[in-house]
Amino acid sequence: MDTKTKLDEPRPTRGRWCCRCVRLAKWLGVGVLLLLALREVFFSGPYLPLAKPHDRLILDMHCHVAGIGAGGSGCFVSKELRNNFRFKIYLKAFGVTVAEAEEQGDQLLMERLAKGIGESQRVGAAIVLAMDGAVDANGQLDRSRTEFYIPNEFVATETAKHSNLYFGASVNPHRPDAIERLQWAKDNGALLVKWLPSIQFINPADPAHEPFYKKMVVLDLPLLTHAGQERSFTHARDDLADPVRLKLPLSLGVKVIVAHAASTGENEGEEDIDRLIGMLGDYPNLYTDISSMTQVNKLGYLRQIITEKRIEGRLLYGSDFPLINTAVVTPWAFSLNLTLKQMQSIGAIENPWDRDVALKEVLGVPADVMARSANFFGVPLGQAAAD
Ligand SMILES: [Zn+2]
Repeated sequence: MDTKTKLDEPRPTRGRWCCRCVRLAKWLGVGVLLLLALREVFFSGPYLPLAKPHDRLILDMHCHVAGIGAGGSGCFVSKELRNNFRFKIYLKAFGVTVAEAEEQGDQLLMERLAKGIGESQRVGAAIVLAMDGAVDANGQLDRSRTEFYIPNEFVATETAKHSNLYFGASVNPHRPDAIERLQWAKDNGALLVKWLPSIQFINPADPAHEPFYKKMVVLDLPLLTHAGQERSFTHARDDLADPVRLKLPLSLGVKVIVAHAASTGENEGEEDIDRLIGMLGDYPNLYTDISSMTQVNKLGYLRQIITEKRIEGRLLYGSDFPLINTAVVTPWAFSLNLTLKQMQSIGAIENPWDRDVALKEVLGVPADVMARSANFFGVPLGQAAAD
């Protein structure tokens, strides 16, 4: 009986919880003060002294589109990637739901891209990248090893509808008609060829690709290729993304742009970014872009690349949209470089391209890097809107 009476009694939890809350609040307060003090001690400001920003509109030479195959786009996403949390985040970054894409077609994503860039005060146009897949022994698209496929036809057709979008082709050199595909891309307005060797299973150092590289030179199509670690997909072969493998196309005269300075990967015990920097002296046709270099997992690399003297004249502005519009890019990750006011005002910028440009500029990315993409690709762009 006694036990029952004890169990039925209401427990005095309220006071105990209040005590816990007060203690927690105290610790939080101490934590915040400690962080602020540490910030004061280690604050180092921007990576380079800030100069006058580029006053013309900027070309984003590294911009992705997505697609689920709706509206006859021919796009393809593996079941594995479609079920992966990353895919929903990518679509959300376009402001499109799977249901909307299913109903209105993948063309909707391209429309959203054009609209977003149209609304940007700083970026005037973008090169939108197709994405070829893995190719099987018969030269056909190997769907079992392809996570993400964005056909050239889709990107060429859709970018032609928007004056602020340009076509970036993607051709896997293992396709039996790879050379004809290059010609087709050029004839249809392609400004570059994009590779992601670690997921397309391309070895850039394979001498069998020589005719392909020679055709790229004839057509004056630069190669934008991913190097370094790849974590946007569910699996990747990072050894194929070693920048040293690019010596073959470089020696044949292909203009090679290494995406995001090969940041985050390593090969043979050396950081890929250092391997890339070591090649600059030998190859004047080697370039790199600053896309995605403000991601939280790449802290430090942007400082390294913009303060590296050997890379002067070779850095191009790119965004790597949609990644810039996800939680992996935030000004709050740069609390040792930016003032609270800067972090607040950049975080409040609605347009993802304007936010990206503002963040990179305030970290010290020089105006000539912002200007270089439009000059490199010969895309004429007007004056940026005054504030
Ligand atoms: Zn990219």
